[in-house]
Amino acid sequence: MRRRTFLTALGVGAAATAITGLISSCEKKESEVGGPAVIIRGKTEFEWRMVTTWPPHFPVFGEAAERIAANVERMSAGRIKIKVYGGGELVPPLGTFDAVRQGTVECGHSAAYYWAGTSPATQFFAAVPFGMNAQQSTAWLMAGGGQELWDELYAQFNLKPFPAGNTGVQMAGWFRKEIKSMDDLKGLKMRIPGLGGKVLAKVGGTVVLLAASEVFPALERGVIDAAEWVGPYHDMRLGLHQAAKNYYYPGWHEPGTVLELIIAKEKWEALPDELQAIFEAAAAEAHVWTLSELEAKNAGALKDLVQNHGVKVRPLPDDVLRALKRASEETVAEVARQDPFSGKVYDSFSKFKKENDLWQDISERAYQRALTL
Ligand code: CA
Repeated sequence: MRRRTFLTALGVGAAATAITGLISSCEKKESEVGGPAVIIRGKTEFEWRMVTTWPPHFPVFGEAAERIAANVERMSAGRIKIKVYGGGELVPPLGTFDAVRQGTVECGHSAAYYWAGTSPATQFFAAVPFGMNAQQSTAWLMAGGGQELWDELYAQFNLKPFPAGNTGVQMAGWFRKEIKSMDDLKGLKMRIPGLGGKVLAKVGGTVVLLAASEVFPALERGVIDAAEWVGPYHDMRLGLHQAAKNYYYPGWHEPGTVLELIIAKEKWEALPDELQAIFEAAAAEAHVWTLSELEAKNAGALKDLVQNHGVKVRPLPDDVLRALKRASEETVAEVARQDPFSGKVYDSFSKFKKENDLWQDISERAYQRALTL
């Protein structure tokens, strides 16, 4: 009674009466503790489709897309319903960006580096070799001006982007032969896409572009000498441990790849404020969930690979990493010179990283070092 009086005093009672007219059903039942519980189900106001770059129900990445759809529906009490499509089900996997920006569908889940051909600056919003790790890139995006630049860039393509997943540091990949010096990278045929591939080419390697299903047979038959994919969990599912035994770390080329949720800009702007807030929350949840899921699953898969499959986990030699770092810095600086917006994003990314590295050196990295003493 006291609560009802309080609400009436605020005029909430009148507002609630108005809202009742908008909702399709309102069930009342007695809860176990005896008080009245109200379940409100909204009328479905938005029926959306989400296309993704991932195979249907692809572990973690595809699950993240399905999780966003489910959480948006739950949080909006059914006002928004989103049907998720795997890559190729509605549009080709790499057709995600165009399908959303052209308004064929309302939203998509992917990774920004796939759109480098459309705009080189997109790569800074996914993965940069020797760039920032998950913690740093999340800080840049959410608290360091990165999101504002991403919004500005994607507005040119009629899109609103959100970070909606992070892989954490990936693995350097599977190699048929051991890597002991830079000479071993000369002429090495490797499946490694994106900026990492450009870096490998710069140091004398040969980049081979292969879709997921082609990686295992090519590596097994020796058509390629090496392949990177994601990390222990995904790599094991692809069977790469049966094609090569030398598993190298760290994933210098993808130190914390960001996944994206993209929404057609006018569809986004037409959403009421409370539904926009629900999307923001669902994307942020997927971001943390993906990183956490992979952190947990990679550890288990790594143990299995080493204990049960004879995999040799090896660090890339220091001089190889040093040379790859130099080549990466040159490659990324070249991207920055490709167009004015890439330069602008590069400046923000580099400035944030440089300052943040000083803090990381005495926080995360100092702690990691302390653990090894
Ligand atoms: Ca990868």
